[in-house]
Amino acid sequence: MLKQIDHLGIAVRSLAEAIPYYEKALGLTASAVEEVPSQRVRTVFFACGDVHLELLEPTDPESPIAKFLEKNPAGGIHHLAFRTDDIAAQLSQAAGAGVRLIHEQPIDGAGGKLVAFLHPKSTQGVLTEFCMPKAAGGGAHH
Ligand code: ZN
Repeated sequence: MLKQIDHLGIAVRSLAEAIPYYEKALGLTASAVEEVPSQRVRTVFFACGDVHLELLEPTDPESPIAKFLEKNPAGGIHHLAFRTDDIAAQLSQAAGAGVRLIHEQPIDGAGGKLVAFLHPKSTQGVLTEFCMPKAAGGGAHH
């Protein structure tokens, strides 16, 4: 079941340039920077109530975030992430409803979570992520 909006993913060219805006202009506090090899990005999170903002800086010119920045040079909202307590069930529900999946199986995401993306062609134009803390659901997804 979907529990809440977990975070909004925001593509930026440079974390170093973007972080001061969120910290100084908005008064949010940045987490430590984390590199996520599976998505070829460096990320930082800002908590805003129960929802987080995830800034994504590409580490590879061929990464999906780099491609997004080619089309959207100023950066911008890249994806919407829902937290679920059973990512495998969520993926099969979506697939059963005819949704194309980017990840048939969840991959390791930032913050020790399992994540999986749905294809934006199937999601009314919004790139959609499911995420689940690894502690939940037993972690048996192989
Ligand atoms: Zn995300």
